[in-house]
Amino acid sequence: MKVSPVEELFTIFNETAVLLQEELSCTYLEALAETGENIFQQSVLQEELSELTRKRLKKSYESVSLTKFSSEEIRKSFQLAILKGMKENVQAHHQMTPDSIGLLIGYLVAKFMKQSSFRILDPAVGTGNLLTTVLNQQGNKVMDAIGIDIDDLLIKLSYVNANLQEHAVEFFNQDSLSNLFIDPVDVIVSDLPVGFYPDDIRALDYQLKAEEGHSNAHHLFIEQSVKYVKNGGYLFFLVPSNLFESEQAGKLHEYLKEQANIQALLQLPLSLFKNEQSAKSILVLQKKGEQVHAPKEVLLAMLPSLSNAVQMEKILSKIDLWIRENK
Ligand code: SAM
Repeated sequence: MKVSPVEELFTIFNETAVLLQEELSCTYLEALAETGENIFQQSVLQEELSELTRKRLKKSYESVSLTKFSSEEIRKSFQLAILKGMKENVQAHHQMTPDSIGLLIGYLVAKFMKQSSFRILDPAVGTGNLLTTVLNQQGNKVMDAIGIDIDDLLIKLSYVNANLQEHAVEFFNQDSLSNLFIDPVDVIVSDLPVGFYPDDIRALDYQLKAEEGHSNAHHLFIEQSVKYVKNGGYLFFLVPSNLFESEQAGKLHEYLKEQANIQALLQLPLSLFKNEQSAKSILVLQKKGEQVHAPKEVLLAMLPSLSNAVQMEKILSKIDLWIRENK
């Protein structure tokens, strides 16, 4: 039976990661990052391996030539391997952004961004799945991409993921809510970490800090992102659907009224999530600035199940029409 390119490449990632996992006594995800780096460097970089494992790895690596795969095929096969590793051990809010959501955000970025070249940032880049899904849909319009994450394993996966897909992304392994050493960008995309931010002292620097107790990380991320996007720049966030109903929502509303224009709020279908509490929406903002006008009306939609092609087609036409009339 003929295997698809994604299956073929997944098998290489998977089999070599398992070999390395056993020999290095590490987690599958750590081994995946190692094997990804080996494949990219076309060499076995780990010195502590037995001769037999080294030989088996070399043989697998020699059987694959990345040049025959598209970036999307590489991303999807690496994504499958990450999913396998995440089943082993990963905290819920470190989950990778699913394909369907990344594709939709990438579609929106392509529609909103009229410039011929732009700079993009994901301040919670995780495995890089969302960022590279978006990059793969922008042709060669992205001149600079930046990813930041606090988790050193995830950012390593992200870096390997970007290298394998031949995306030149600059990565920073740090708390995105501390100072960022970057110039403001044109676009931000991010699947925001939801939950409390543990550093109450740093949270004091934010307008959106909680009056009492820990602040909401995703609120602080919104404020930080608005700070690091240019005037008139766009922000595409995956946020909890109850964002504007939570306890701190009043403050968030006030802040957004001052700083940005809400462009769109697209509710994702419940079927994508475990329960109503964990449901997410895509929030699109534009930072205020000279020559920046609020849209005539905010684009509000409840998205159908993303596998429902007919309904999805209708919604995409509605989005296209809104963009023609408002952008
Ligand atoms: N879009 C990512 C992907 O496709 O893999 C998934 C993002 S995940 C929902 C949220 C990410 O935020 C996690 O990778 C987590 O490590 C990161 N994170 C949480 N708090 C952070 C902080 N203070 N600074 C930077 N990254 C943070």
